[in-house]
Amino acid sequence: MISYKYPIFPNKITAWKLAENLDACRWLYNRLLQELNDAKMKCVKLKTYDTQNMIPSLKLENPKLNLVYSKVLQMVNYTLWSNFKGLAASKMNGRKIGHVRFKGSGWYNTLNYNQSGFKIYQDHNILHLSKIGNMRIKIYRKIEGCIKAVIIKREGERWFVIVQADQEQQPLPETGEAVGLDIGLTSFVVDSVGNEIENPRYAEQAADKLAKLQRKMARAVRGSNNYKSLEGKIAKLHKRINCQRDDFLHKLSRIYVNSFDIICVEDLDVIGLKEKGHNNGMHRSIHDASWSKFTFMLSYKAQSAGRKLIKVDPRNTTQRCSACGSIVKKDLSVRVHECPYCGFSYDRDYNASRNILLTGMEQPVAPIEPKPLHHITVRQVLAMKWEAAPFRTQ
Ligand SMILES: [Zn+2]
Repeated sequence: MISYKYPIFPNKITAWKLAENLDACRWLYNRLLQELNDAKMKCVKLKTYDTQNMIPSLKLENPKLNLVYSKVLQMVNYTLWSNFKGLAASKMNGRKIGHVRFKGSGWYNTLNYNQSGFKIYQDHNILHLSKIGNMRIKIYRKIEGCIKAVIIKREGERWFVIVQADQEQQPLPETGEAVGLDIGLTSFVVDSVGNEIENPRYAEQAADKLAKLQRKMARAVRGSNNYKSLEGKIAKLHKRINCQRDDFLHKLSRIYVNSFDIICVEDLDVIGLKEKGHNNGMHRSIHDASWSKFTFMLSYKAQSAGRKLIKVDPRNTTQRCSACGSIVKKDLSVRVHECPYCGFSYDRDYNASRNILLTGMEQPVAPIEPKPLHHITVRQVLAMKWEAAPFRTQ
């Protein structure tokens, strides 16, 4: 199960409906809690479905419940019971804790649509909720797999949706191969089998066109038809750049997952990209964003294919000699790793990718006879059929 979190933008009326729904759910939560407490006083044992069966009659008591999708109300009951169970579990562990509390106004902030009552139109960025209506959703990362639930969340003044999707497991046949990937300085990836993947430059390619449109827009009268049309063109251009980049990242991550049982990458959450020298200029930030998207795609594609993605400690991956283990200090400008101790001399990113592989596989450094790097263009990645990839796998 993977969760995605996206901001949603309900209009005034929709936001009001959501708030009303939250309040009705809060009322139900407290009311059912009251029932449970009362039953406990009378030494009556209730089960999950006992309280669930109370919901229809409670709708008569509070007609606002009718405004809430029925499954969402059931999930209120479910949440209450899971809070009870959580509490019982901590009691068993000997922790001293209180009891399940009543929720005050503003303390109930989630609506849980489980299995049904929602629809997401990914191509149009629209979320539909039963009994609420449509609202705009900002989907950064395409949702893959089967959507099991959506949870609406209020955080202060803002609204979010958490989408839970199930990845269908489709194990791929084993290849017996492992690879280490390094984020390239000029190329997108250099890997430990010697592929060097060209960095896509969609944003740079469109930069002139974008600047031209922006200059025109700066001269146009705000709010005029011309202004609006330019605005539309700019948005479209941005969208196209994103789509092209995503397409490239999807293809490339697919190729790696299909070709290797184990993929090792650096855990960049540890030190961030800065230490890799990825902090200057626009190119870098685009590159960094693409790279984190790429590792995310690798991780869920690997998961659903029964492959392994290993994140390794990134310290010393560039500086260490992957042939003898000596530390060879080098600046960012130094493109070649040249080891004065063992004589191993090769592309710095390739040396790093080997270190990433060796660390991930917990193997010792070892001398190798390197082949020249195999350069793969963006165009080749996009055209690749993995059965016949111009791609080195060992
Ligand atoms: Zn060496």
